[in-house]
Amino acid sequence: MQQAHIQLKKHFGYDSFKRGQEELVESILQGRDALGVMPTGAGKSVCYQLPAAMLPGITLVVSPLISLMKDQADALNQIGIPAALLNSTLSVRELNDTYRKIAAGAYKIVYVAPERLESERFCQLVQELSIPLVAVDEAHCVSQWGHDFRPSYLAVNRLLQWIKPRPVLAAFTATATDVVKEDIVRQLGLSDPLRITTGYERENLSLSVVKGADKKDYIASYLRSRPKDAGIIYASTRKEVEEVHRYLNRLGISAGRYHAGLSDEERSRSQELFLYDMTKVMVATNAFGMGIDKSNVRFVIHYNLPKNLESYYQEAGRAGRDGEPGECILLFAAQDIMTQKFLLEQGDSEPERKKQEYSNLNDMVDYCHTTDCLQSYIVSYFGGHTAEPCGRCSSCTDERELNDITVEAQKI
Ligand code: ADP
Ligand code: MG
Repeated sequence: MQQAHIQLKKHFGYDSFKRGQEELVESILQGRDALGVMPTGAGKSVCYQLPAAMLPGITLVVSPLISLMKDQADALNQIGIPAALLNSTLSVRELNDTYRKIAAGAYKIVYVAPERLESERFCQLVQELSIPLVAVDEAHCVSQWGHDFRPSYLAVNRLLQWIKPRPVLAAFTATATDVVKEDIVRQLGLSDPLRITTGYERENLSLSVVKGADKKDYIASYLRSRPKDAGIIYASTRKEVEEVHRYLNRLGISAGRYHAGLSDEERSRSQELFLYDMTKVMVATNAFGMGIDKSNVRFVIHYNLPKNLESYYQEAGRAGRDGEPGECILLFAAQDIMTQKFLLEQGDSEPERKKQEYSNLNDMVDYCHTTDCLQSYIVSYFGGHTAEPCGRCSSCTDERELNDITVEAQKI
């Protein structure tokens, strides 16, 4: 498709498509639904932004990432694709203004928070518009089987009844197992979508699992050995974030912190300092980082075992988005399995779902114990194939002890 290439260059300045982009763009332009599963940094945005620029009418983009919406809209406006956003950060006046301008056809792309989809005003507005495409970013949020279920995402499907004729629906996510993919198709109501899954390998990341370390010591000496690098330390509870944060500060290592127990102001200040390289290290719960577009994160350390590999790879994958080397280190301790089981029992999941969660946790623990290539383990977990071991992970470089392989795994 010559035209798409030309438009890609014209609007975005890129000479060629990255893997998967062209097929997805083409499919959308031809009116077929699409599901793109591509790792972080693969360039999912272009897959809907380019069609949005080329198609007549307005493209709606559903995104849960309020802070990112503004960045994306600003960037689009800068390259001459008029874009707006509708979310809870707008004042009443800005909101009225935006609604008026959308109705007047001032925009090609409108970013919408999922909560907005059910507002009466919004549903009325879309009936008056010509909307050729609805793009759903972070589409795993629609699935209860994914790692970040948001009930408001279910409203996407209900929204479609208001838009005539039915728009093309395109969904994107970085991580989805086969079960989650099927659920996305069903819950969003994708109709015979083109499915593109590009490789999960991240050739610039080296994965490692460290067992039996004194975690605090490990982190302190790690941070001291690379004082200039930006990185994230994930812990599983607020309490543990506080503890690690305090510990680092006591040692004179400056670090920010981020968790849901802090005020909105403190969270956004903390995030901003990190994004602009004022603090190099962020200690955080998994509340931090979905969609964070900081390219020069050099390491992601997991202080605790995450609950599943989807979460782990999504979080660890925030390292090295610029293509430069990134280290992803998981500090394993057997008691973290107990913590995750406890959290899992505390949750109010249905029995069937709980069973799945246990099984996911089991796979996460297996990852910590495998002597096979860690990158290959993850890729095959997500249903992909790898030709050969990565040569970079702690299994490949054989840094870890080969004992006590199955003890903790059996406890589950
Ligand atoms: P994702 O949403 O998949 O994580 P983004 O859409 O944020 O990824 O894109 C990641 C980076 O790749 C951005 O810096 C973007 O400018 C760049 N990019 C996207 N498409 C191309 C392309 N065809 N050629 C070169 N760079 C691209
Ligand atoms: Mg993205």
